[in-house]
Amino acid sequence: MKKLSVFIVLVLLLCLCTVPAYAESGIISKRINFKNPGFIKGMDVSSVISLEKSGVKFYNEAGESEDIFELLSDHGVNYIRVRVWNNPFDKDGNGYGGGNNDVKTACEIGRRAALYGMKLSVDFHYSDFWADPGKQKAPKAWENLSFDDKERALYDYTYNSLKEIKSAGADIGMVQIGNETTLGICGENEWQNMARLFNSGASAVRAFDKNILVAVHFTNPEMTDTIKWLADTLDENKVDYDVFATSYYPYWHGSLANLTDVLSYAAEKYGKYALVAETSYANTLADTDGHPNTVAQGSNDKGENLLWDFSVQGQADELSAVMNAVNNVKNGKGLGVFYWEGAWITVGDTTSLSGDEYSNRVLKNKKLWESFGSGWASPFSGEFDPDDAGKWYGGSAVDNQAFFDSSGKALASLDIFKMVSTDVLNGDSNGDNKLNIRDSTAIRKYIAKLRTLDSCGLRAADFNADGEISVSDATSIQFFISSR
Ligand code: CA
Repeated sequence: MKKLSVFIVLVLLLCLCTVPAYAESGIISKRINFKNPGFIKGMDVSSVISLEKSGVKFYNEAGESEDIFELLSDHGVNYIRVRVWNNPFDKDGNGYGGGNNDVKTACEIGRRAALYGMKLSVDFHYSDFWADPGKQKAPKAWENLSFDDKERALYDYTYNSLKEIKSAGADIGMVQIGNETTLGICGENEWQNMARLFNSGASAVRAFDKNILVAVHFTNPEMTDTIKWLADTLDENKVDYDVFATSYYPYWHGSLANLTDVLSYAAEKYGKYALVAETSYANTLADTDGHPNTVAQGSNDKGENLLWDFSVQGQADELSAVMNAVNNVKNGKGLGVFYWEGAWITVGDTTSLSGDEYSNRVLKNKKLWESFGSGWASPFSGEFDPDDAGKWYGGSAVDNQAFFDSSGKALASLDIFKMVSTDVLNGDSNGDNKLNIRDSTAIRKYIAKLRTLDSCGLRAADFNADGEISVSDATSIQFFISSR
């Protein structure tokens, strides 16, 4: 009997002796040699105040409740982006949703980001709700103004908003003049007028603080000729700006090599910085709030540029690959990457619910979305955007692209912001900056599932660099220590 037990233990040990490096308790990633020491590893968390008002809390890996901005900063996020709408409310004060992000919300986000040493990028949509290639509607208050008056209003609004956001305590580092303005801005689609509005915004930023970077933001980098034409057109129309930015969603926007190429065009020809202002990737195809997701089974889940699994590791890999693509922009002009809405999780978890339980939870969620603006759009947005938001309003379409699970706990993928800049001492599995017998023990315990390793520990644990964490890493460390 005793012999049999020993045999079983031996077989179990053999089965356990190799675990894949892509482990649940952490992520594996390479360090990127950033050419720009201040490379932006940023995140857009525009919806986060409305989530908190809806009762959402965020937790670190140990399950302790923590301020979301502290959590992000601790994990290596160094810049926060926030969208700003002029007046996302109806005349009765009901919010359109999407965080109801007016200047007041930007003040709160900027103030809290600065408490943890993170700069703020202010993304003016110059609209009362979502602006993108399909929509560039002027705010309600500006729609009947003459063009000259609108140009002045845009200048004043930019200047006064920045003053308010800075007074709240924000450390403003960059300002976007418009959001995804490929086909227009603020109700204008003729370049002569567009250029005047870009310059009106830019001159307000320059007058406010000449150290703030001025960014212009486009999308569809896969339309290579269009992007290059935009860079030329900005130049021909003498638009004053520092940063040429694009969105990059890999299911729509072409290859990473093409991304580097189109961003290098404005960098080489016009000396501009290059930025990915938005990217994201799904860590699962499941939904957790009862509102369909952008990336789901049968929706944006297939394509030649979706190079990564829909997993926590895949999410980290995508962001690291996009950072790498921007870092590869010619002449060292790669400025950084913002992950879009990396904290827009559910306000009420519908996972594993069905029937009445599911419907009741979704009804509760709808109330939260509409009361606090924590969904992408509320029914009140219909007065401003009847054809899209007014029809399809609801919750979060990106809860499966956040760096937090549905309970608000940080996923291992959040480590990627730090991992891309961190040198790990090879073998230092327990993270005490020393290589000794304790690291060998940590690996053995990890393999036996008696302890976890964080992402840096996992990277270090693959001592022999064969892509796996196995007993041979532990024995190699012991051999290395005894022979030095
Ligand atoms: Ca959803």
